[in-house]
Amino acid sequence: MQEKENPLGLDALAGESHKGADDAAALPVRLGRYSRAHHRAIDMASFARSAGDVKTAAKLDRCGHYLVFRDYFTVGKVRLHAADFCGKHLLCPLCAIRRGAKLVKSYLERLQVVSQAKPELRPYLVTLTVKNGCDLGERFRHLHHSMGKMTQARRSYLRGKGPHVEMAKAVGGVASYEFKRGTRSGLWHPHSHAVWLCYEAPDSEKLSSEWHSVTGDSYIVDVRPIEQADPVSGFLEVFKYAVKFSDLPLGDNWEGWKTLAGRRLVFSFGDLFGVKVPDELTDECLDDLPYVEMLYRFFKGAGYSLVKTSDVQESTVESIPEWFNHAVEAGWSDEQILRFYREMQTRINGSPSRDRGINGGDPPRSGGEQAVYAAKALDGAPGTR
Ligand SMILES: [Zn+2]
Repeated sequence: MQEKENPLGLDALAGESHKGADDAAALPVRLGRYSRAHHRAIDMASFARSAGDVKTAAKLDRCGHYLVFRDYFTVGKVRLHAADFCGKHLLCPLCAIRRGAKLVKSYLERLQVVSQAKPELRPYLVTLTVKNGCDLGERFRHLHHSMGKMTQARRSYLRGKGPHVEMAKAVGGVASYEFKRGTRSGLWHPHSHAVWLCYEAPDSEKLSSEWHSVTGDSYIVDVRPIEQADPVSGFLEVFKYAVKFSDLPLGDNWEGWKTLAGRRLVFSFGDLFGVKVPDELTDECLDDLPYVEMLYRFFKGAGYSLVKTSDVQESTVESIPEWFNHAVEAGWSDEQILRFYREMQTRINGSPSRDRGINGGDPPRSGGEQAVYAAKALDGAPGTR
């Protein structure tokens, strides 16, 4: 169980956001990362169960239990095509790294567009902290409220209605709220990491005194330039906030989720406002390329194991997501899922099915037909484990 002790966090997000993260050669490392993440989620599920939240526990247990990858062997890329994600990224590191990587990618794309239009802009990593405290909810509200005041002061200056503030040097920015627990004090330590795009470097002394007058109790800030050649590093700092929850002891992680679930922990302004981040946690498909589909299953202690590989697929027909999540939700056994998976593969390949299939009937061709077929099969499934 060595894997469990390996830290998740920034490294995991960096690995996931790395340019070659979807290289076929990187798959073992990637599966190792997902395995550590899911082991933690399983521990979290046990904690949730002991806290009486059986529903959340079940979602965490199921999240990433199966992973369907597509190996686009002609270009050496492997994409995550389907999985039953729980979407609770403050509790589940797998969802946190998947979501974090989507955020990094989307903001990098926007940064490229902004930088082309305004090549003189430089990115800065700006960290603002508030004093430690024992009540997480109270400290979060304090940080959130203070940040609101800062953004308001920036807006007032830009409209000619207030004095200059350092934040007004930022033409745009994106920030997150992050939470640590002091190792010695045991107190909550909320802070915010931001990427600011500025023509002129923010002055940390001035920023510190502005922050102190806004918060009334806190003055610790940090400003550092982000290497232009590697803007990813700044975004990783900002978007690691959810993954960092898995650094906390299970009880603190649970408390953090209870306190902060549903809160917006990322916000942006100016030129980085309104960036669209895709909701789905799977990868984008590579259209019109042949692929082999691989079904992996999670085994506690051992990690992910390949349980089935399809024949070469020429078509890009969407099939797996139509039924996969429903099947897991309906409580299908591994054996049922594998049987159905094989059946669908045969049908998508276009070769005539030798047996009559799960419910019989003609082979479905279109995505819609497949969904209907899957729904029929699900109805007929005993749903026992
Ligand atoms: Zn999850």
